[in-house]
Amino acid sequence: MGRIHQLPSSVITKIAAGEVIERPASVVKELLENAVDAGSTRIDVEVEQGGVEMIRVVDNGCGIAAEDLALAFASHATSKLAGADDLFRIGSLGFRGEALASIGGVAQVALQSWPADQASGAEISCHGGQLSEARAWNGSPGTRIEVRHLFFNTPVRRKFLRTIGTELGHLSEVFTRLALSYPDLHWTLRHNGKPIYEVPASASLLDRIRMFFGKEISERLYEVKADAGSVRLSGYIADPACERGNAKLQYLFVNGRWIRDRSLGHALQEAYRGLLMAGRYPVAFLFLDLPPDQVDVNVHPTKVEVRFRDGNALHHLVFTALRERLRAANLTPRLQAPSTISVSYAYGPPNDRPLLADPPPWSLTADAPGLPSLPFSNSAAPAPPRPFAALPPETRQPNHTSVLGNGVEHTPSLAHPDSPSLPPPGSLKAIQLYDTYLVLETNAGMLVIDQHALHERILFEGLKERIRSGPLETQKLLIPEPVDLSDEEAARTLEFREALAELGLEVSDFGGGTVLVSSYPALLSRRTPQSVLRAVVDHLVNQDRPPSREVLLNNLLSLMACHAAVRAGDPLTAEEIAALVVQRDLADDTHHCPHGRPTALLFSKQDLEKQFRRV
Ligand code: ADP
Ligand code: MG
Repeated sequence: MGRIHQLPSSVITKIAAGEVIERPASVVKELLENAVDAGSTRIDVEVEQGGVEMIRVVDNGCGIAAEDLALAFASHATSKLAGADDLFRIGSLGFRGEALASIGGVAQVALQSWPADQASGAEISCHGGQLSEARAWNGSPGTRIEVRHLFFNTPVRRKFLRTIGTELGHLSEVFTRLALSYPDLHWTLRHNGKPIYEVPASASLLDRIRMFFGKEISERLYEVKADAGSVRLSGYIADPACERGNAKLQYLFVNGRWIRDRSLGHALQEAYRGLLMAGRYPVAFLFLDLPPDQVDVNVHPTKVEVRFRDGNALHHLVFTALRERLRAANLTPRLQAPSTISVSYAYGPPNDRPLLADPPPWSLTADAPGLPSLPFSNSAAPAPPRPFAALPPETRQPNHTSVLGNGVEHTPSLAHPDSPSLPPPGSLKAIQLYDTYLVLETNAGMLVIDQHALHERILFEGLKERIRSGPLETQKLLIPEPVDLSDEEAARTLEFREALAELGLEVSDFGGGTVLVSSYPALLSRRTPQSVLRAVVDHLVNQDRPPSREVLLNNLLSLMACHAAVRAGDPLTAEEIAALVVQRDLADDTHHCPHGRPTALLFSKQDLEKQFRRV
């Protein structure tokens, strides 16, 4: 070990740059944030070789005064903060005063700027931290900054850069995030002289989502809007059918800044619980706006993580708003025909459809849903409506005030105006295939039901309803059964003792990591108390944060429902089929089983007609 000495400033800059400038995309991010902070209405980005050779950002913002040009490259020099108090109410994207200093330290930068209110502009360059003199410049108002040969003086960093395609991918992602969160700005991106994106200021958020992610997503979005106190949530979430294998298409912005946040990511995932299989991720574009003093952005050098003053309230807001929105949507997956039938049509228009919408226009045509033609009748000559079909339209509206179990009469479809609703009992046409699937005729088309998945969901909803009025029936054990757990498992289990008791699972501490089970849910009497507790413990421990009571109950109830439901391969009688099918229409949220598998697929009558070339 040598003697201690102060590092030269060139080394300090390189160390600091290491924190924020990792690759061309990091440069693009910092430059674009500066352009946004400058109040620009148009921002043009041009890059060469994935940004490794050259990055140029031109904006029409407020510009930098000639005498400040050198200061812009000094570290900890910023125009966006005055005192320490400002740190706790940051309204701009930048505030650290580090970016230009870092970029200037590891690249060759030319900065030209002209504040519109001044007679002329000026330029300066910074090569590996070496500043030139400022000179007069006659360009146009705004700022133009060109970064060449990134990492030219840090060869190790340069070696870490990936292929041009990969680097371009990263920087397009940065561009996308900013263009999504600032939809009033005109944005362009060019690579090696070719335009990649041209996003006019007139393009709405929805237009932008279509440009960046295509129709597959933009046509299956549900708009979200909610507030809680001074916090506003807005944006779009995609139909569960758009699910992905990773969370990359989950965009979360807080006060215009793209961030990552585990807790809010969790809220999003929870909102889709039961609609997606395990390991699948929903697509979402969510914007939270809250007073700047409610969020601390000064947590992470690249500002992608933040700390909220009341993270729990935000978790709750996101979870409940999304859950409600998904409930209101019609989520019966459509069976895809083996040709070009557009799935997007089947999901309805992308815009926000109100819960109590008018019946869709096609319900007024002759062969409309609710007016099935008689069997074997010629579809060209519409059959006269049968008596039961002549329901006045109002009674076919979804009725969200009548929730299961409150004794109120139900209208046939609770879910959505597009949901297939059933003919009245007695005229049900349904058959069982392979002792596993039920196929039935509905107003909207041919519905294929997975009997286990549907029954599981119905039991699950029933259990949820029942548990609201008190604990579930229990099976008391004559001699409490000891179960050995690790200390952590035992602690978690005892922590959730009350919630478990509501499910009929009564546990107490025996000491030394052993837990005594004195009763367990009667519904699960075919399983040993030990295996029931084991499943519960696995669930409690396999979470990075303790599950909320509601989540815990949901999971345990779904475990019970799965165990108690009819299985694939169980033959059903006509009465059983009818009972199951009728309950489908009565219970809420029956589109997916509690594990997220669909319970039913709809092959619409229109699709059938198209496939058989009847239309
Ligand atoms: P920060 O953005 O954190 O303040 P930067 O190092 O990114 O730090 O920029 C330093 C300063 O240079 C900014 O505070 C701002 O005053 C000025 N600046 C940088 N880019 C621009 C731009 N495109 N337009 C106007 N001013 C800019
Ligand atoms: Mg900045």
